[in-house]
Amino acid sequence: MSDILKVILGELPKVIDSGSFEGANIVLYTSDKKFFLEGEEEIRRIVDKIKKRIELRASKELLLEKEKAEKIILELVPKEAEPQKILFDEERSVVVIEVKKPGLAIGKGGELLKEIKEKTFWTPIILRVPAIESRITTAIRHTLFEKEGYRKKFLNAIGKKIYKEWSPEKKEEWVRISFLGAAREVGRSCLLLQTPESKILLDCGIDVAAGNTEKFPYLNAPEFDLKNLDAIIVSHAHLDHSGLLFYLYKLGYRGPCYMTPPTRDIAALLALDFIGVSYKKAESPFFKVSDVKTMIKHSIELNYNEVTDITPDVRLTFYNAGHCLGSAMVHLNIGNGLHNLLYTGDFKFSKTRVLDRAAFHFPRLETLICESTYGGKENVFLPRKELENMLIEIIKKTLERKGKVLIPVLGVGRGQEEILVIANAIKEGLLPKDVRVYVDGLVWDVTAIHTAYPNFLSSSLRTLVFQYEYTFLMEIIKHV
Ligand SMILES: [Zn+2]
Repeated sequence: MSDILKVILGELPKVIDSGSFEGANIVLYTSDKKFFLEGEEEIRRIVDKIKKRIELRASKELLLEKEKAEKIILELVPKEAEPQKILFDEERSVVVIEVKKPGLAIGKGGELLKEIKEKTFWTPIILRVPAIESRITTAIRHTLFEKEGYRKKFLNAIGKKIYKEWSPEKKEEWVRISFLGAAREVGRSCLLLQTPESKILLDCGIDVAAGNTEKFPYLNAPEFDLKNLDAIIVSHAHLDHSGLLFYLYKLGYRGPCYMTPPTRDIAALLALDFIGVSYKKAESPFFKVSDVKTMIKHSIELNYNEVTDITPDVRLTFYNAGHCLGSAMVHLNIGNGLHNLLYTGDFKFSKTRVLDRAAFHFPRLETLICESTYGGKENVFLPRKELENMLIEIIKKTLERKGKVLIPVLGVGRGQEEILVIANAIKEGLLPKDVRVYVDGLVWDVTAIHTAYPNFLSSSLRTLVFQYEYTFLMEIIKHV
């Protein structure tokens, strides 16, 4: 047993059957009913002491049979929350309840969750069903909560690695960054970060537009060895940052990749689309659908501002990058505060209709690695309002002449932004009330993923999602 688990178990009464890791989180299993229901305070005391996340769950023998548990859950969750699907992850004593309105299923101060726990001994996780159905989000959730037990073993192995030396002695300390792509160029973003304890890849993109020899990052660089890689961090889903991730799993990488939940879903969607496009061009894609699934099984999701250990000497926090749904700036605390580094990935410093502006308050920084794609002297854009007015004016004129407007647009970010610009113009009477936006292909699928994660949307759009105006939006947008 790892040292950190020994320390924790030594602090608790003898009611814990087993302890394991889920990445950096520690999960304790008990078959003692009383402790499961009342042990929260004891657990909190240890969390305060060791400053790690600990969760208490029921051992298998306590769990109520699935059929009975499902019946009780459906009785407890109000109909207005619109429960859709219930998935049981027996290996981890977790029940995933998918509902349309999570707020109603969680209850005030989480009281409903508590009641489910008390009556079924399963630990409930409430997930939002997207307002627009997203097949990719559904498939990913099924992959993550499949009962085969692989995921539990994988997450436990990650934790063991992170906590392998619970009280490390002071050793030599250094940090080294190598650019394997995207230095003095746009595309194929890929950085290798090394410390005495860790080898971490920041992004692994492809330059879709480049010729064959310059598509990939320099994975043949002498300092890069896939076998010794501890973790991959993906800043956002665009292919120039995530496109080669799946290829690394094809090559045999089986370690974790960290990203936000929307980044995981959109990256998987783009990868599947990439495979489809390759076949259409009669080219054989350099990774397969099974590699996309392998990546999902090894993904560890992290929300903004959530701090987690990823190796013995590196702690990761994502911050909003304001660039596309789920896009993150990567903050790394190395060597317990010895050195703090921020890798911005792509970021936007002004508010858009879909997203809030990038974060700019960080606990501490010694090194900043910054995107500079539009940083040139000539890269001066017209004010946003002016650009929006131009678009609306063109649409208006075309409609007046009984025309149709076709807008080719990038699927992740810009597509959703333009839908909202048009919807807003209709709302404000700048465009006729009966204008409809027909959305095709990837833009539709990515828009669907947006509706699954309102917490990643701008504060104003999030309010819209929770209010009646959302219905207004849904009436304007139509799937082709
Ligand atoms: Zn990007």
